[in-house]
Amino acid sequence: MLFVELIRKKRDGKELSREAIEFIVSGYTCSEIPDYQVSAFLMAALLRGLSRAETAALTNAMLNSGKVLDFSEIAGHKVDKHSTGGVGDKTSLILAPIVAAGGVSVPMVSGRGLGHTGGTLDKLEAIPGFNVHLELDEFRRILAKVGCAMIGQTEDLAPADKKLYALRDVTGTVESPNLICASIMSKKLAEGIDGLVLDVKTGSGAFMKNPQDSEFLAGLMVETGERMGKKMVALITDMDQPLGRYIGNALEVVECVEILRGEFAGSEDLVELTLELCGWMFYLGGRTADKDKGRALALEIIRSGRGLERFRELVSEQGGDVRIVDDLGLLPQAAHREDILSPASGFVAAMECERMGIAGVILGGGRFKKEDTVDPAVGIVLHKKVGDPVSAGESLCTVHYNSAERFAEAKPVITAAYSIAGQKPEPRPLVQKVIQGKSV
Ligand code: URA
Repeated sequence: MLFVELIRKKRDGKELSREAIEFIVSGYTCSEIPDYQVSAFLMAALLRGLSRAETAALTNAMLNSGKVLDFSEIAGHKVDKHSTGGVGDKTSLILAPIVAAGGVSVPMVSGRGLGHTGGTLDKLEAIPGFNVHLELDEFRRILAKVGCAMIGQTEDLAPADKKLYALRDVTGTVESPNLICASIMSKKLAEGIDGLVLDVKTGSGAFMKNPQDSEFLAGLMVETGERMGKKMVALITDMDQPLGRYIGNALEVVECVEILRGEFAGSEDLVELTLELCGWMFYLGGRTADKDKGRALALEIIRSGRGLERFRELVSEQGGDVRIVDDLGLLPQAAHREDILSPASGFVAAMECERMGIAGVILGGGRFKKEDTVDPAVGIVLHKKVGDPVSAGESLCTVHYNSAERFAEAKPVITAAYSIAGQKPEPRPLVQKVIQGKSV
């Protein structure tokens, strides 16, 4: 196959065969096709779009570029959840132990913070000693013992995505729903799961800012997973303000442990979304007859303390300091705290969620460049969220920081993120839509 012909074909909006797509993926993964040609192909794919069949072929080829895990020796269903990324989105740390405690296994391969959004691996690493770089055998052992295990992407899983994503990042070709779908689904399907719950974010803190784009991506991922025999459901959820009360890696671990202890005050939106996602995971995992029964089971697991115990086991097995579960003060703490005060009285009308995420990155909680190190202690504790009444001079949030310079840079970003108005805004639904696969 002549690669330039395939580029021309896609450039002219024609459909590529499955064989052609397999040729591109295998050729690029083993470095037989150079970056410049694949860049041209990616741009053509972004501008012309890919058909459903091409997207499925691309996902499949990327999935099969590496190992596909098989946990069939572990009894019961295996279900995972994937979020397209948000600010303060820490549901994975809460739901994995809950779902495991309810009898459905959760083999979770997660990512780091991307742009203004946080990443599960960075949050887990805020727990002293927690190891996210497990060998696959160790991952398997912990999954069998605890019912959940959480690691970062390895060299073996979907290596084509690793190369293609790095190239997309520097060629302006990330923002294609088809390419995003193939990238996410190839990694998730390599986990050896039977079902997947997708949390597709929409709003000012999401990569997809409007519901139409989020829905299109969600539909594509559900259909792609179904073609591969997986039970799929996607929730389109609000990311127009941060989720929960805390932004920042160690602070977010605090909020997760509090919720697993049954302390929900101030974190109602996070609890609500977590219960919905757990409900769907239990349902897809065949544990309950419907999502609502799964939700009730999740709540019962929290109330009984079984979720917290499972979290303790997970931390212990992955090398983390389990003492943090009983003494959250052992988590990394920032040296300084300062309140951001409301400039006026009224209601919080909006919070520009992406700005809040960027403020977290400026404080050191995320990365501007891949090689940046993350400060686990810094972050923002929100006292006021959208719809809350506020008086002039009252604290909107408290910033935890280690560098005065970084704080000075982040403060105006946070201040600008909040808008205060005389009228209480209409509440936005947290779960805006549910897209179920046909087999669900
Ligand atoms: N996350 C991924 O894993 N891949 C994408 O393409 C975008 C977000």
